[in-house]
Parts: sequence; C-alpha cells; structure tokens
Amino acid sequence: MKKIGVLTSGGDSPGMNAAVRAVVRKAIFNGLEVYGIYGGYTGLINGHIEKLEIGSVGDIIHRGGTNLFTARCPEFKTLEGQQKGIEQLKKFGIEGLVVIGGDGSYQGAKKLTEHGFPCVGVPGTIDNDIPGTDFTIGFDTALNTIINAIDKIRDTATSHGFTYVIEVMGRNAGDLALWAGLADGAETILIPEVNYDMDEVISKLNRGAERGKKHSIIIVAEGVGSAIEIGKIVKERTNFDTRVTVLGHVQRGGSPSAFDRVLASRLGAYAVELLMEGKGGRCVGIQNNQLVDHDIIEALAKKHTIDKGMYTLSQELSI
Ligand code: ADP
Repeated sequence: MKKIGVLTSGGDSPGMNAAVRAVVRKAIFNGLEVYGIYGGYTGLINGHIEKLEIGSVGDIIHRGGTNLFTARCPEFKTLEGQQKGIEQLKKFGIEGLVVIGGDGSYQGAKKLTEHGFPCVGVPGTIDNDIPGTDFTIGFDTALNTIINAIDKIRDTATSHGFTYVIEVMGRNAGDLALWAGLADGAETILIPEVNYDMDEVISKLNRGAERGKKHSIIIVAEGVGSAIEIGKIVKERTNFDTRVTVLGHVQRGGSPSAFDRVLASRLGAYAVELLMEGKGGRCVGIQNNQLVDHDIIEALAKKHTIDKGMYTLSQELSI
C-alpha cells in the first residue's frame, strides 16, 4: 500500500486531531503518501481530498475539534453514496482508509469493507460506546470537563442548599455519567444500562436531608431521558429547591487531555501499521493497556457494556 486516506466523521471529539497527526506522521515516516478527506463521508463523496504533508498536521495535537472537519452524511448510508466514495478513492489512487469516529462512522467503514475497500476504524467519540476498546478518544477529556463543571455547580449547591439534576452526554451509553458520578461523589447516577426506581431516588434524597445534607447531586445520562423532566418530578415529590443543568456541547470541545493525546497517537499509528500489513476491515482499540484490533463487522455486532462493578461501587459510596 502506497497511498492511504484519513477522515474524521460523526460527532467531533477532543483528540481527533492528535489521531490524524499520528496517522499522517506514521505514514510519511514509512514512506506512504497520505490524503486528508475533508468533512467526513460528505467530503469523500464530493472528492474534497488533499494530500497532507508533515507540516499539515503541525500545531494541532493540542487542539479540540477536528481540522479535517466532520459531517453527518445520510447519502453515505445508500449504496450509491458508498459507490461514489469508492470512485473518489480510486481517482486519487488511495488504497486504504483510516476512519476516525463513532459507531455510525464505523458502520460506514464496515460498508466500505464489505465492498472490498480496506478500512481501519479508530474510535473517536466522547461517549465511550465502541465495542472492542476500553476507552475511546475524547472520553477522558469530556469526563474532566464534566468534573470541572460539577465541581463549580457543587459550590452553588452547597451555598444555597440546592438539589441539582445534571444531564451529561453519552448518547445511549452511561459511561460518562457513571465515571463522572463516581469521580464527583454524586448521590444518584441514572444511566440507560440500569433501570431506576424514582421512589428509591426520592427516598435517598430524603435520607440525605435527614442526616443533615444541605445539597444533593443527581447525574442523568442523556440516554435515560430529560434532566428537566426528572428535575420536575424531584421538585414535586420532595419540595427541595431543585435546579437543573444540561451541560450540552461544552462537553465535546476543548484541548484534549494528556491521556487522550497519547491514546490518539497510539491508535492512529497502529491503524497505519495494519493498513501497511494489508489488513483492512479492522478497528483498533486499547484493552488492558494493550493495543488491539478486531474485525470491524464482528466488533459492531457486539454491544458496549458498562462496568457493573463500578456502578455497584458508586452506589455503595453514596449511601
Ligand atoms: P458517529 O460516528 O459519531 O456515531 P453518526 O452516527 O452520525 O456519528 O455517523 C456518522 C456518519 O457515518 C453518518 O452521517 C453516515 O455518513 C455514516 N454512517 C452511519 N451509519 C451508516 C451506515 N449504516 N452505512 C453507511 N454509513 C453510515
């Protein structure tokens, strides 16, 4: 393989730039040519493709978002869209593709693989919901952003005696909520993977108030539902002074943490290694601090799960 392409797709995540940098530098170091595809699968279909040099990825390792831009591209879900993409790749002489993104982007890479085009998926999403890896690029940064925000909210909660319901991102996965809740000592963590009982949520708040707690924090993963609705129920049933904060897109941006930069560098470079060995149809990840790769079709057939032990611990520590 002499020419490879790289694109970022779906929701942006901090560390995507570091991953692109690693792909480009690792490829050039090994004598390959690298092409940047701008705007995810939309750029692939439209042929928005440019050759990248060593300097093209200078000064981006510490920047959030993605300099290759990203997009949601419904057309790529169609056979026609996928064929247009493959034609563009052929036109530029690109023989392998690194796709950095979340599970939707992996579906696109899977389709290319099924059409016989070698692709390697790199997990770039704050949601940590990709099977075959313990961590996705951007999760750690988003988690730290959430922690910083909750620490600030906690100051106000303590000062006023508010009960706070805080909604965090994560799509259908509860990882951000669970890790944030454990790291911030939240009283209650509501995640989509575990059914919750509103009576238990309320009685826990009441128990806390009885032992003199001035404030409480309930973290709600977006996959569970609206924090605003949950806040209304809490207020109705307890009459505690309840406030709701939906953290929103602040969680997606910002300079990537050291962990995410290192993870992105390792995974991006590993993806290039696989393509150089002629291995397509793979997705890369980190498990037990070892770089791993899996068949992308098999990986997508599996479901990401939360660490049940961590959930139990969060409950034991927030009695
Ligand atoms: P993420 O990658 O963050 O999960 P999306 O779910 O929006 O984000 O997926 C990103 C893009 O991947 C979509 O806009 C689409 O172009 C492509 N994609 C998603 N699902 C498929 C699919 N089933 N087949 C082909 N391409 C897909």
